[in-house]
Amino acid sequence: MRGEELVVNEALKVRALPEGSYDKLLEFLRLYRDAVQIVVDRIWGIDEKLSWKKLHRLFYSDLMRLGLRAHHAKEIYVNAKSLMESAKGNSGRKPVLRKLSARIDKYDYKLDLDNMVLTLKLHNNYEVKLRLVTPRERVEKFRSWSNYELVVKYEDGEFWVSIYFKRIVKSLKPRTVIAIDLNFGNVTLAIYTPDGRRVRLKKLKTPHKKILTHKIWIEKIQKKYPKSWRFIKGVRKAIEKHGERIKNISWDYAHKTGNTTAKLAFRHHSVIILEDLEKLRENNKKDKEFNKKLGLWFYRRIQFCIEYEAMERNLQVAKIDPRGTSSKCPRCGGRLVEDGYRVLRCRKCGFIGDRDVTATINIYKKYISKHSRCGVPGVAPNAPKPDENPSGMQGNRDEAMTTSNHMNLYES
Ligand SMILES: [Zn+2]
Repeated sequence: MRGEELVVNEALKVRALPEGSYDKLLEFLRLYRDAVQIVVDRIWGIDEKLSWKKLHRLFYSDLMRLGLRAHHAKEIYVNAKSLMESAKGNSGRKPVLRKLSARIDKYDYKLDLDNMVLTLKLHNNYEVKLRLVTPRERVEKFRSWSNYELVVKYEDGEFWVSIYFKRIVKSLKPRTVIAIDLNFGNVTLAIYTPDGRRVRLKKLKTPHKKILTHKIWIEKIQKKYPKSWRFIKGVRKAIEKHGERIKNISWDYAHKTGNTTAKLAFRHHSVIILEDLEKLRENNKKDKEFNKKLGLWFYRRIQFCIEYEAMERNLQVAKIDPRGTSSKCPRCGGRLVEDGYRVLRCRKCGFIGDRDVTATINIYKKYISKHSRCGVPGVAPNAPKPDENPSGMQGNRDEAMTTSNHMNLYES
């Protein structure tokens, strides 16, 4: 089993105040916008695929003549090209740029987080210093990250900067597997070594019964006032009170379970295996009562907290199809039948086991049979998809904010 490397991207958007006059920065933003427009206008009619090399050949010297820097030019083609592509894919109308916004790569700025000062390299070798206006605490976490690109904007008389940060997260190399079974009465955590030895078993009683009690109260009240409960303040308040209790109980429990699981997994270097609840639902579509009975929403909440706590500790999480985990014999694959209170027995081979523990064996086995040979494909809940914008920057067609253009034109 091997560890994985993940790249985490995040954008920090802050207001920025130029030291001295605004003129040069505004002039730069206008020049930049007009340059993007020029490129868009000229490539709009071209149907062939434009490589970066070609764009460079077509526009580099013109953009240099405007007083722009080499990396400004690169950002301008990148911008123009993605603008054109998204416009063709959407409205089909040629974009007309109005907003003042420029994307600048790391070669054309210097960020000094100690003094909260950003220096931008503009056209004609001008430089401008901007003071970042934001509480220091917001910036603190990014100190250990690297930054590679930013966007400067002028909106309603103010300058804004979005700085893109990234960091590489190395997830721990898992040595054991922690299988988690969720059911009405218990959450069962079992840790197995790759050769199938169980080294730890923990059962956490769920508060399902308490939750049900509050649910029953709500239903009773609603039955008593079938038409009017919504409109009588005291009745509505009583219902809300029970609803609030359900919410608190379930979140409390989910947080605790997430914490316990991630702590155990961390200590034992485990990859965490959960049942895929979507598949659980699909497999049980016919059973109308299923959703209600099982409290799927509650399991989702628990899994959310487990995944969150795992992510905080750089642990891997994987999901398996839950089909058969509580009905198949882990020894011979035969069908299990009830044999007393929470005990299952295999008619074929005589296997006898606790219902919850048996489920964890099956979960563990499912995972191992899939992943033992080809490493551990973990799930990184916060790793952005390759074509997704960094958080904090909503996709805006005018500005063509994508994060995928990090190739260097000048290498080839
Ligand atoms: Zn069996």
